[in-house]
Amino acid sequence: MKITDLRCAVIGGSPVVRIITDEGIDGLGQVELTKSYLKPHILFYKPYILDEDPTNVERVMLRIRRLGSFKPWGAAVSAIEMALWDIAGKAAGVPVYKLLGGKVRDKVRIYNGGVRFEMTGLTPEDYADTMARMKAAPEGFTIIKQAIGFHSIMPSQLPNFSYSEVVKGGAQYGNRGLLTERTLKHIISCVEAMKLVLGDQIGLALDCGPGWTVPDAIRLAKALEPLNLLWLEDLITGDYTPYVLADVYREVTRSAATPIHTGEQIYLRQNFKELIEKHAVNILGPDPADVGGLAELKWIAEYADLHGLLFAPHGVFDGLIGLAALVQVCATLPYNYIAFEYPIAKPEWWTDLVAGLPDPIVKDGFIEVWDRPGLGVELNVDATMPYLSEEDKGFFE
Ligand SMILES: [Mg+2]
Repeated sequence: MKITDLRCAVIGGSPVVRIITDEGIDGLGQVELTKSYLKPHILFYKPYILDEDPTNVERVMLRIRRLGSFKPWGAAVSAIEMALWDIAGKAAGVPVYKLLGGKVRDKVRIYNGGVRFEMTGLTPEDYADTMARMKAAPEGFTIIKQAIGFHSIMPSQLPNFSYSEVVKGGAQYGNRGLLTERTLKHIISCVEAMKLVLGDQIGLALDCGPGWTVPDAIRLAKALEPLNLLWLEDLITGDYTPYVLADVYREVTRSAATPIHTGEQIYLRQNFKELIEKHAVNILGPDPADVGGLAELKWIAEYADLHGLLFAPHGVFDGLIGLAALVQVCATLPYNYIAFEYPIAKPEWWTDLVAGLPDPIVKDGFIEVWDRPGLGVELNVDATMPYLSEEDKGFFE
């Protein structure tokens, strides 16, 4: 089998990859919906993979893997890797999880990072209200993640948020600095209010940064110890940070019992090595659509497991094809797996485009693993055509 074309269409903001072969089998991959600008970057890889046998996934990846980087520049390579597995699975007549080592679980736990309700303010009552609505959501979430601190609008909305100047309109998460005592106390009150709503049946995780200083990160992690949170995410480095700072994380992680989590922006296993070997965090959360793909994520999960670290992959914007990829790989992960971040259909009409997903997708906080070949999902051509731009009209030809 040979690859004859690599195509990309931007559908509702998400670049979707389609790899075509000379045997009539094609494969799909998806890039985060926030990265519509990556289409030219995806097509850049086409000459590197043409005429290769897509079922030799690793051999193809060796041609392009080094031509990627931290978020957002690893996304194109990652989506191509997903599409290769899709083809390899279809060619073998088995679901991708079989090719990744086989199923460890029949249903995968997900966590809520994407089902959101409008908040009217930033008081503890506002956070309690939004938690109550997420708790009542039909998906039956068993874990909910909430953004606070530097990962939220708090820096620009709370007066005297920190001792630093608030950066507006620059790169995402441009704010860093020492918090005022009032801010720290306010954040802790908001978390206490959320826990009161969730009780001890639904786990609470917090997406915090990046942007925290070490003293504040330690104060927060210590103060929240009695609340038994699932994790504090990206306190030091994180989303759109092209470096890791494992030693700084280690200082925070060693200081308190609250689990520390990071990894969504990191590209390739090599860049997790220091975090894992130094036990710099407790939980790792790479995104298959940024880290280099499914096999890359699986390798990192196994290596983390050998070091006693837990695993909770990122995925909120990976779309429904990305969701299928997450289900396939997470079915194969070792017992250090907690849950992956459930990608919501955004815009909602994406649900009409993708065939093959369970209905409803999430039941009691889990997704059942399906057994169709490849990723097991297809784009409905008739339903998708109206959403293709003029330049993407030939996507399905
Ligand atoms: Mg995050």
